[in-house]
Amino acid sequence: MRIRDLFNEKKLVFSFEVFPPKNTSPIKSIYNALNELSELNPDFISVTYGAGGTSVNNKTTEISSLIKNVYKIEALAHLTSIGAKKENINFIKERLALEGVENILALRGDKKEECNSGDFLYASNLMNHLREDFNIIGACYPEGHIENKSIDLEIDNMKRKEENGCSSFISQLFFSNETYYEFLEKARNSGVKAPIQAGIMPVINKKQIQRIGNLCGAYIPLKFKKIMNRYEHNPEALREAGIAYAVEQIIDLSSSSVDGIHLYTMNNPYVARKIKENIKTVLKAVNE
Ligand code: FAD
Repeated sequence: MRIRDLFNEKKLVFSFEVFPPKNTSPIKSIYNALNELSELNPDFISVTYGAGGTSVNNKTTEISSLIKNVYKIEALAHLTSIGAKKENINFIKERLALEGVENILALRGDKKEECNSGDFLYASNLMNHLREDFNIIGACYPEGHIENKSIDLEIDNMKRKEENGCSSFISQLFFSNETYYEFLEKARNSGVKAPIQAGIMPVINKKQIQRIGNLCGAYIPLKFKKIMNRYEHNPEALREAGIAYAVEQIIDLSSSSVDGIHLYTMNNPYVARKIKENIKTVLKAVNE
């Protein structure tokens, strides 16, 4: 199934993201996570891809196939273009098609010194190359992309992605719903039409938040900072507080008629289960 059709069927699409296990962990370690995540009935599960040709890349196809063919859940394979030649992309494209995977999150990937730009300079170029054979999804950045931080340039890029076949978007994580609503309003007023799913990352340890701040520069509201500071030395309390914060964000977003929620699960079924338990009735009510 093409994920774009889910947005016609459901008022709020709810999905998960997983990443391939690191080289040191066997691929089997993802089975346990997927066993539990699949019981939570997400509309689809996406699988990240290591930018710049790392060895985890083949695992993205393998895990996407597992989701689609074993767990019978719609799969979304991430694919980055940075440093990749057209033939590398075509190789992955063919393998995904053989496995019956119909949806690709087409990305450029982060710039790294060791990577040349490859045959596709931007995500929109990759989208154009894939659009005939796959349903294409794109990334968007409610607080602007880290390389320029301009919301206007970000919205121009979303329109470019739409013109190149992007049928829906998944947003970068954010912790301030107000910032997200401002971005949504601006995007819609500027003519972005495709559904946009809100990316929610439950933060359950302090290390995670420092990494996220450095990576994507998300605005950290005072309320959130206080939670992190108050419980940083009590891992269990911090985990419960992080889950509660994500639940509050999701309930507020669901009440504001967003198109969907994409949960960055960090391969942690406990956290995904706790969140799903807390929002089950809300999700049902929204989709009635
Ligand atoms: P692009 O849309 O190509 O944009 C990159 C930059 O170029 C932006 O600053 C944009 O404004 C600018 N730009 C775009 N087009 C033009 C143009 N024509 N002219 C001038 N400037 C232009 N990374 C991974 O490595 N693996 C993953 O699995 C992965 N999954 C992700 C999932 C989501 C939901 C999100 C939000 C991000 C993910 N990323 C992943 C990170 C992503 O690869 C980086 O954020 C990357 O820096 C940008 O990717 P993009 O596809 O948005 O790039």
